Amino acid sequence: MHQTEKKLCSSCGLCSVQSWPVEESIQSCVFKNGWLGEREKKLFGRERSLDDQIEMRFGIAAERFTAQLKNPLSGAQWSGIITLMAMRAIEKKLVDGVMSLNRSADNHFFSVPILAGSSDEVYAARGNKPVLSPVLQSLEQAYRLGMKKILVIGAACHLHTLRDFQERFEYLRDMEILTIGIPCVDNVARSKWPWILQRMTGSPGTARHMEFMQDFRIHIRHDDGRVEKIPFFSLPEELSDPDIFPAACMSCFDYLNSLADITVGYIGAELLPDQNRQWVLVRSETGKKLLNLIEPELDRFPESGRWECRSSIQNTSKRIIESMRDVDREYSSKRRIPFLIGHMLAGVLGMIGPKGIGFAHYSVDFHLIRHYYYVKFRYPELLEKLVPRHVPVILAEYGLEV
Ligand SMILES: Cc1cc2nc3c(=O)[nH]c(=O)nc-3n(C[C@H](O)[C@H](O)[C@H](O)COP(=O)(O)OP(=O)(O)OC[C@H]3O[C@@H](n4cnc5c(N)ncnc54)[C@H](O)[C@@H]3O)c2cc1C
Ligand code: SF4
Ligand code: SF4
Repeated sequence: MHQTEKKLCSSCGLCSVQSWPVEESIQSCVFKNGWLGEREKKLFGRERSLDDQIEMRFGIAAERFTAQLKNPLSGAQWSGIITLMAMRAIEKKLVDGVMSLNRSADNHFFSVPILAGSSDEVYAARGNKPVLSPVLQSLEQAYRLGMKKILVIGAACHLHTLRDFQERFEYLRDMEILTIGIPCVDNVARSKWPWILQRMTGSPGTARHMEFMQDFRIHIRHDDGRVEKIPFFSLPEELSDPDIFPAACMSCFDYLNSLADITVGYIGAELLPDQNRQWVLVRSETGKKLLNLIEPELDRFPESGRWECRSSIQNTSKRIIESMRDVDREYSSKRRIPFLIGHMLAGVLGMIGPKGIGFAHYSVDFHLIRHYYYVKFRYPELLEKLVPRHVPVILAEYGLEV
């Protein structure tokens, strides 16, 4: 995989396409051009408002709500809203192909890029693959087949780079590209995944589904249906080493995928027993068109939760900044908070901590603070280029130094 300056590369897949020179692909790389800014302006006619507390965090959206499918799709990550929208887009001939990811035959959590041409193929691509994934590699096939309308399901780095490439060069100009975005953070390189999974669970071989949940625990579902819940606080200290994550993901400033036509996550939805509520941010007219495809199959709910999360951020920001500053710190493989205490802490935070949109607010601010100081202490020369203008405004709200 080709890499940009200082090796920031999320393996988005564009540089693997051979139908045009790799030097052109690299020109569109988000790690070369920076996050949001002009790209956001080109898409929406304006950049996010710096006077709007919510828009600064969640990006420009025409509508936000929580929802779940009336008939959740088994094997999807949550209720399967993304997969169903993409299946309907193919069935209704809104698009000729869907760029997504299949599971690799060798490892349940690894991905293989796919250009799905039927709703069965889209269905087969459901569920998360929590590793860096070259979604854009399938542009090669779509371009060679002369497809005129495609749907791309991707993370923010995929969609930034894709939108730039479509505008900068002529190759994809005649292609109508619809996009569904996943929120994405703390993704990992394939080479690190087995090491990380082994440190999360005593039974990595049976793990089939993993998610960082709003109850301050990781939920790992095993092949016999058992769900293991591990409090974030009881993970070994070595899993909080920033160097276990790709430098690209630690330099990422678009957690909620603000250039997607529609973003579908879960982080702003309240975690309720026996439900799979998701969080939907409709950003463009195309996003509305995609949502309309599944509207009758959706149960909608308003957002819930209090916006405020200031004290939760203030309790953690000093520690995060110190750990980003200390670039040579050694992280212990032995040190961890005992499970009983970890569960008690998660239980207390679950009761008194932020929920719903307050939790999304907390998670966005936590990660942008962490990433700002990561870049500041490790790649200071890239700070100006990579960091969007709303980030210093948010840091200033907490009295943090830029
Ligand atoms: C690494 C990672 C971190 C995430 N972190 C958050 C988070 O912090 N907060 C949040 O709200 N949501 C997060 N998500 C998204 C969330 O887990 C769900 O994917 C999303 O809510 C859609 O659920 P669904 O049931 O509609 O998905 P499904 O219907 O199962 O469809 C998921 C789609 O995403 C595609 N996909 C899977 N893995 C990747 C990948 N690595 N890159 C690109 N596309 C992929 C699949 O191929 C499939 O098309 C994350 C996803 C990933 C992969
Ligand atoms: S992130 Fe994508 S465009 Fe950038 S260097 Fe890596 S493969 Fe190329
Ligand atoms: S965290 Fe950011 S850079 Fe990493 S895969 Fe997700 S969107 Fe891409």
